[in-house]
Amino acid sequence: MTVPASTGEIYRVDWLPGTDVLHGTCHCGAEHTAEDPVAMWEWMLAHPEGHHLRGTSS
Ligand SMILES: [Zn+2]
Repeated sequence: MTVPASTGEIYRVDWLPGTDVLHGTCHCGAEHTAEDPVAMWEWMLAHPEGHHLRGTSS
């Protein structure tokens, strides 16, 4: 599913098939997995803290 945040940014969260693991993609392109939906939201809302894009060295 995609979730439009109040800021107008789009977050995407999917369940990984056959697991209890959530896979989330931030509007900035960073990805994160968590078993706890609350932890997933906390990660998303903490943007840009803990958000590291693949392929970037910064
Ligand atoms: Zn982000």
